[in-house]
Amino acid sequence: MIGQNHRILNSGHHSDAFFKAMYRTIARGELWRGELRNRAKDGSLYWVDTWIIPACNRRGKVVGYISIRVDITPRKEAEGEQAALAAELKRQNEAIAHMAHHDALTGLPNRLLLIDRLGHALTGLSVGGGVAVLLVGLDRFQDINDTLGHPAGDRLLTLAARRLRGCVTARDTVARFGGEEFAIVQLTADQANEAASLAARVLKAMHTPFELDGQLLTLGASIGIALSPHDGADPPELLKNADLALHLVKQESRGAYRFFEREMDQRMQTRVQLEVDLRRAFSDGALELHYQPLVNLRTNEVNGFEALLRWAHPSRGMVSPADFIPIAEETGLIVPIGEWVLRQACADASRWPNPIRVAVNLSAVQFKVSNLVETVSNALAEAGLPGTRLELEITESLLLWNDEVTFSALTGLRALGVRIALDDFGIGYSSLAYLHSFVFDKIKIDRSFISSLALNKNTPAILHAIATLGRDLDIDTTAEGVETEAQLAAVRAFGCTEMQGNLFSPARPAAELTQFFPKRGTPKSRTAAVNAA
Ligand code: C2E
Ligand code: MG
Ligand code: MG
Repeated sequence: MIGQNHRILNSGHHSDAFFKAMYRTIARGELWRGELRNRAKDGSLYWVDTWIIPACNRRGKVVGYISIRVDITPRKEAEGEQAALAAELKRQNEAIAHMAHHDALTGLPNRLLLIDRLGHALTGLSVGGGVAVLLVGLDRFQDINDTLGHPAGDRLLTLAARRLRGCVTARDTVARFGGEEFAIVQLTADQANEAASLAARVLKAMHTPFELDGQLLTLGASIGIALSPHDGADPPELLKNADLALHLVKQESRGAYRFFEREMDQRMQTRVQLEVDLRRAFSDGALELHYQPLVNLRTNEVNGFEALLRWAHPSRGMVSPADFIPIAEETGLIVPIGEWVLRQACADASRWPNPIRVAVNLSAVQFKVSNLVETVSNALAEAGLPGTRLELEITESLLLWNDEVTFSALTGLRALGVRIALDDFGIGYSSLAYLHSFVFDKIKIDRSFISSLALNKNTPAILHAIATLGRDLDIDTTAEGVETEAQLAAVRAFGCTEMQGNLFSPARPAAELTQFFPKRGTPKSRTAAVNAA
């Protein structure tokens, strides 16, 4: 195309500056070449590869332009598609990278990203700066999740994550490690103090009730803390040590925080060894049941025996159930052990004179297994023991959640004729609501009340109140851990209906119980101690 003026139909694609530069070039008599996006007369857009060659006269003056244009629309469209494709791929890659580093539910960084940030924080530490790792476990989440269902549990986790984020500064990282576990990497100058005050903020935030579907739910949290460089120089070591501290808080004092200490490692190893030994002891049949008499304080007769687990460890000697039952509960081993206890206790009791009962302790964990009623029913049937001769002891921790599953299991057990006793009463929440929500057959008053009778001036009034409550509700009250004549006289005077304690007899092997059985025509010799008081 040759002409005086070079006219371009502006597509709006190029800027004014672009055209100005083009006109400056050709006005100087120089060639301009570029890709132009033009608009055709019908309004459609097209691309042209354009040469504009100034035509000069003999004196060098620009007198016109030669314009050569090649339609490159198909090529440009292909390039555009490729660019769009590349942009989409980039977006997808970014989304995948985000997914790989974040928790889908809460949107928080995940373990991978936290470890990465922790690594960067550790290498970039300034002199005097420090890093604290806080592992946060939500205490009652699992129970809520089991009771209200997973969608409610998920919403609760999201709310908890939001609150956690509100507890930290912009420099810190909050991550979700999965389940009910979160982690915080805190950059601090004054590590121990700042980590402690962050932990206190988190505990307070998690103890403040959450509102979910019109219900107020309290979660609570436990926190383990490790500080760098003191407790570890790299992410794996710091996380492992914070985890150890968390583990111990959960075992000993839920709802609190603890800093890692070197001796925790040793304790954990001992515990792990105990778990290994317990598994072996159970599979080798090395666990035994002993039986402690329960004495009726009205008739002075033995009403029954409480089955208590005994473990003679090959090198440690007798290990207390108080030490190994929590391990069995934590590892789930309590389920097969508990089943064995039920079967063994029912079988032993079937050889005792009627109507002497056997009492078996149940752990809350056993209620999580849906077939507890069936297990009990099978144990009774196998032994040929009527349900009325079995008493099951549960603790308040089971009733904390007030859930349908527990109450329907208790009702199912009751339907078998089994009696239900509330064990260790007085040391937990001692909520009267439990006595209201389920009709227990017996309250067992924790032995700490009996042992403190002479030491604490409030104890007599408390014992008296519980015994009176039992009488008015028409249920038995058992005083646990009676060791002296004075204690026996006191619990009798308060109106407790039953006693259990070393004064009468400690727990003994099944083979040694005949001495407590009523002998036809002779008074019960072993009740002498009770009679005498
Ligand atoms: P518990 O059910 O409250 O059992 C009563 C505990 O008090 C027993 O401790 C018993 O030996 C102890 N005791 C009774 N009278 C006296 C006394 O006069 N003085 C002293 N100092 N102690 C007395 P034990 O056998 O060490 O059991 C501790 C706990 O372990 C039990 O407390 C129970 O919660 C748990 N446990 C024992 N066997 C089983 C079991 O088969 N299953 C479950 N889930 N828990 C069990
Ligand atoms: Mg008990
Ligand atoms: Mg007890």
